[in-house]
Amino acid sequence: MALLKREEWQGIVRDVDWTLKYVDDEAVYPEWHSGTGKVPRDAWQKWEESYKVSYPDYVATQREKENSAYAVQSALKRSKAFETLDEGWKSATKMHFGGVALVEGMATLAELKMARFGLSPAWRNMSIFGALDEMRHTQITLLFGHEFVSKDPQYDWSHKAFHTNDWVTVSLRSLFDAMMTGANAVDMAIQLPLTFETGFTNLQFVALSADALEAGDINFANMISSIQTDEARHSQQGGPTLEILVEHDPVRAQWTVDKFFWLSARAFAALTGPSMDYYTPVEHRKQSYREFMEEWIIDQFMRTLSDYGLKKPWYWDEFMEGLDIWHHSLNMGLWFWRPTLWWKPVAGVDEASRQWLNEKYPNWETVYGDKWRVIAENINSGNMEATLPETLPWLCSMCHLPTCNANYGRDGKWRVRNYSLKHNGMTYHFCTKGCRQIWWEDRDNLNHTTVVERFLLGEIQPMDVPGVLGYMGLTPDVMGDDAHNYHWASSFSQSEPAGTAGGR
Ligand code: MN
Ligand code: MN
Repeated sequence: MALLKREEWQGIVRDVDWTLKYVDDEAVYPEWHSGTGKVPRDAWQKWEESYKVSYPDYVATQREKENSAYAVQSALKRSKAFETLDEGWKSATKMHFGGVALVEGMATLAELKMARFGLSPAWRNMSIFGALDEMRHTQITLLFGHEFVSKDPQYDWSHKAFHTNDWVTVSLRSLFDAMMTGANAVDMAIQLPLTFETGFTNLQFVALSADALEAGDINFANMISSIQTDEARHSQQGGPTLEILVEHDPVRAQWTVDKFFWLSARAFAALTGPSMDYYTPVEHRKQSYREFMEEWIIDQFMRTLSDYGLKKPWYWDEFMEGLDIWHHSLNMGLWFWRPTLWWKPVAGVDEASRQWLNEKYPNWETVYGDKWRVIAENINSGNMEATLPETLPWLCSMCHLPTCNANYGRDGKWRVRNYSLKHNGMTYHFCTKGCRQIWWEDRDNLNHTTVVERFLLGEIQPMDVPGVLGYMGLTPDVMGDDAHNYHWASSFSQSEPAGTAGGR
């Protein structure tokens, strides 16, 4: 039997659609799931992407990727590779396993929603492959994390983290519920494939994989780069959706991109920022988080915006300023609230690291050096209690991360910035103006309460640190403690405080 060549059938197969006779279009593509808004229904016929993968090709390629990822994994199982990894680097991977594995699972559902409610057959077709991709990512991430459970119970959180109310999980759940679970297909294509996957996953999956290789973690590097090859393909659903949306409703397009760029940047400052600038051993760092952000996110994002005729987001100056602040503050916060984490946080401020941080971030010593010194002095004098939390940090009502952005005001004084607003008799607090603005515009959609609000509402009992840790699902064998047994602190007793060094 003669087979048709791929070019002869693919255009028809990918673009096949129905003219509905027995039901209204609105019944099949209801607004709340499809989200066409001001875009005329016919406009979606123009939707076009460049990959045009067919099912047989897809399966063949994916099979190869799976084979090579698992081949490397099983070869490394017989080696001592895991034992030689730095504890700080292991923490970066634990953070990834727990923070990402089930988000890949959520992304399966997100892709399936677009596969059902996307407004063009080519789009729905591509989303099917996207859903298969995300299923693979969930499974491979869980499997790679699972391998280490017998060596270290924190790896159990690869699967467990999203089934708890740990504050990191609550923050990520709030972000991804808004990005994927609650969104209609059009908004989702702008939020997930365009804003999140085109820009940010590169940072975690390509840039961090470079650090992983340097740190000797071939297994992890191999896993995340295998995942990224899929992301690079299915993220192409974003561009064509944005193109059509911009044409008919530029205001919605701009707002949706701006909002999820901001919220993604906050989450990456909490996880990827510390992984790159603190958890990766200093001698293995390829570039600083800021340099990666500039190269992978800012240049690319600005190009994407102007390619589609969009403007710079309204918060641009605040965002750029945050590149020197957010992740440093969050790293200190993660370390300080270490019992609340499923990994061992890294202070990352021994002498060599401080030198590196000051080279990469000229303001680091002024803003953070003296705070770490106080912590180190408490450690060195045996006053460990002073280095452990007695209360919860105030959490931002939008990103759910600690409100801990430290900077110096015009008066030269250290301040932790807090932005608040009153609504329906409640005062809400935010880490930044950006978060406050997004919350205000979207206030009717949002329903996640922060862990601090839950605490104040009496949902967490008993109302003390053990009660909070219990609520978050943390058991003594898992609670985070300093990754390097506080050895770094001794480097502070040998050096002068900043500002007093050098002759006058
Ligand atoms: Mn994925
Ligand atoms: Mn994806």
